[in-house]
Parts: sequence; structure tokens; C-alpha cells
Amino acid sequence: MDEKNSPYSNAKKQIERAVKKLGKEKKYYNILKDPERFIEVNFPVEMDDGSTKVFKGFRSQHSKARGPSKGGIRYHPKVNPEEVKALSIWMTIKAAVIDIPYGGGKGGIIIDPSKFSESELKKITKTYIEKISELIGPDKDIPAPDINTSSREMGWGFDAYSKIKGKNMPEVITGKPLEIGGSKLRNEATGFGAFYTFKNMASDLMGLEKLEEGNIKVALQGFGNAAYPFAQKLFENDIKVVAVSDVKGGVLKEEGLDIPELKKYAEENGSVVNFSNTEKISNKELLELDVDVLVPAAIENVITKENAGKVKANYIMEIANGPTTSEADEILRDRGIKMVPDILANSGGVLVSYYEWVQNRQRFYWKKDKVNRRLRDKMNKAYSEFKDLRESKGIYGRTAADLLGIKRIINALKARGY
Ligand code: NAD
Repeated sequence: MDEKNSPYSNAKKQIERAVKKLGKEKKYYNILKDPERFIEVNFPVEMDDGSTKVFKGFRSQHSKARGPSKGGIRYHPKVNPEEVKALSIWMTIKAAVIDIPYGGGKGGIIIDPSKFSESELKKITKTYIEKISELIGPDKDIPAPDINTSSREMGWGFDAYSKIKGKNMPEVITGKPLEIGGSKLRNEATGFGAFYTFKNMASDLMGLEKLEEGNIKVALQGFGNAAYPFAQKLFENDIKVVAVSDVKGGVLKEEGLDIPELKKYAEENGSVVNFSNTEKISNKELLELDVDVLVPAAIENVITKENAGKVKANYIMEIANGPTTSEADEILRDRGIKMVPDILANSGGVLVSYYEWVQNRQRFYWKKDKVNRRLRDKMNKAYSEFKDLRESKGIYGRTAADLLGIKRIINALKARGY
């Protein structure tokens, strides 16, 4: 990925454009373009065979203007400082869009977790948390899961941090297992939140009061923690998900895929590829399918200037963080494709993380219905604020969401005396 298209330069451009559009002084761009704090940690861990491997990890805290940093921990061989910084910027804007009292953070380790045993991963996670423990904390920076990490790693992280502090501190990390202070619905939160956004989008942009009236066709890239619960909700509501992919490739079925069966198949076979009665497609083909809504829900930078002109969907709803490069974004905007961006559509995850943190601090836990109601209401509110701004200014979806979030961040900076 060249520097021009790196997620970090894309994130900076987003801030620059929004600050300009808001008519704010350049100093706010200068304050927000880089993380407040960024660290690299290198740490040795003993492997099962007695050898020692040294791992490299990062943690970025972008802005604390609206509250402590909040953001996931990613395990991936391609994790790098630029990516982590960009993801922390998007977290700040996202928390502001969904209007929760957090700034943005993100972390990661350069690792292919499939190459390590569970006991090795446990040691790696606990050592990473120990190395960043001075930086994180319930009022400073609260990690959560991201690509290739889940409640398991969060449970280990909670344990490591609590041991350092000498007391149980569930509020330091979210996305934990229920047994140790996780919130009901956290696992489904991003997907369910995206579904509420999808419903709002259908009513706002397609004029559909009832989802099933539209005969909407969806192509979904990714079938992981974020994508699957979303696909499940679409399936339950009779929306046709005609294509799904994962890292190994994709499947297409014009009549719509049976999502629960596909999930079972993917669990048993390690991929959606070759699911019965489907046509095999590549990830590249999936992005260019003739569908109504394209939902990238896997990784960043998949819609680029090379394929943006070939996207046939009229609507894009981003569940992945940063799936569209800035150059591609301009092409989509000029082609009149309607964009419901990541910082709005996938904010259900950080929202229920916030609810988990609140419950941890209260040591009092909410029922699933209550979490779901609060998730739905807050997603609906954010969507309606996004819609109002987009309509009143006649602007592109991504620009509207950026303005909504960045205005709130600048207002917080102002209130703090900047
Ligand atoms: P995950 O690891 O559970 O799933 C990732 C999915 O993407 C898998 O199906 C994987 O096979 C697929 N994938 C990986 N590399 C791919 C490639 N090169 N091409 C096509 N598919 C590929 O991760 P997740 O938690 O579902 O996260 C997916 C995206 O959603 C990420 O961008 C993440 O930052 C974003 N997100 C996740 C959450 C959450 O709560 N999980 C919240 C907000 C945003």
C-alpha cells in the first residue's frame, strides 16, 4: 500500500476535509491529525518447545478530548504503526458519532495467531497487556477485541491487568466472557447495530418502511464476528444475502444464502467456499456484483480506485473499518453511490463496549433486552442525526458522518480551552 493510500493518510484526509468544511481553524486539524500518544513494545515469550520468540506490538491513543481512549486489539501479520494510528483516529470519530464519552485508541501485535498454540497465545496476550499496562486503565484507555481477538483474549487481558493492580478490574477491558463481567449481546453488538443502521438506511434512502417490501439483494464481504450476526438478522428478516466471502474466497446464490446453514458449514470446513448449491466467486468478484447493497465487513482498503468504477451496488454500508480508500471514495461519490460509512454503521460494537464498561463500574448487570433496546435506540438516534446533517447540507454520506463526529470533538477541545 503506497503512502498516499495508507489508512493513516486516508484518516488524516478525512479530518482535514471535515475541519475545512466546518469552517474551523487549521489548528484543530493539527491537533487531531496524529495520535496523542503511540507506543511500540517488544517482548520475549517462551514457546511450548522451550524456545523464545520476540513479538512486536503497538498501542495508539488518538484523542482523549471526549473521554478515555477506547479501541480494539488486532492480531495480524500485517499490523503496523500506520494502520494502528489510523484505526485509533477512526475510533475517536466513531465514539463521537455515536455520542459516547470516549476518545479513540487501538492496538495490535504483529502475529499470525493460527501459527501458535492456545497456551502460547495466552502468554503473548498477557505479556502484551503487561507491557502496555502503564498506558491503559478504566479512565485512561480501555482495549477491546478486533480482528483475530475475541472474548478469550479479553479474559486473559483482564486477568493480567488485575494481577498487576492487585484487584479485580473488569472495567479495564471490554468484550470479556460473560462469566467475568462481559455484557450480554457484546458479541452480536456490531452486527445487530449494523442491522438497525441497515433498516434506517432502507427507510431513509430507499423509502422502504418495511424491509421485506424492497426485495433487497446484499453482497457481504467477511463472515466473522461483525459480519455473521448482521447476516443472521438479514436472514431472519427475509433479506436476500446473495453472496458471502471470507479470506479464502466467496459463494454466490442468486436466490439468497441460508445463513445459519452457511455458518455451520464454515465452522466445519474453515471457510464458506464450496458451500452446497452455490457458485464459487472471488473476493474481487463479490465487490463488483450486481446487488443493491454492498457490505464490506472484512478488512480495510478493499474498494480502491481500481474497482470503485466497477461497483454496481447503489448503496454501500461499511461494517469493516476503512474498507474504502479516499480515491475510491471520491469515485463512488461522483457516481452517486450512497454511502453509510463505517464510523456510523459499525459503531454498535463500541457502544455495547461502553455499556459493558458502565455495567462493570456499577457491578450491576443488565438483561439482554435492555442492552438491545439501548443499542437500537442509540443507533437510531445517531442515524437520524447523520441523516439530518446530510440532508441539510446536501453532502455525501461519509462527509456527513465525519462532520457529525469531528464537530463534537472540536467542541470538546474548545470546552477544554483549546
Ligand atoms: P473476524 O476476524 O472475526 O472476521 C474477519 C472476516 O474477514 C473473516 O471472515 C475473514 O475470513 C475475512 N477476511 C480476512 N481477510 C480477508 C481478505 N483479505 N479478504 C476477504 N475476507 C477476509 O473480524 P471482525 O471482528 O469480524 O472484524 C471485521 C471488520 O469489522 C474489521 O475491519 C474490524 O475492524 C471491523 N469491526 C469489527 C467490530 C467487532 O465488534 N468485531 C467492531 C467494529 C468494526
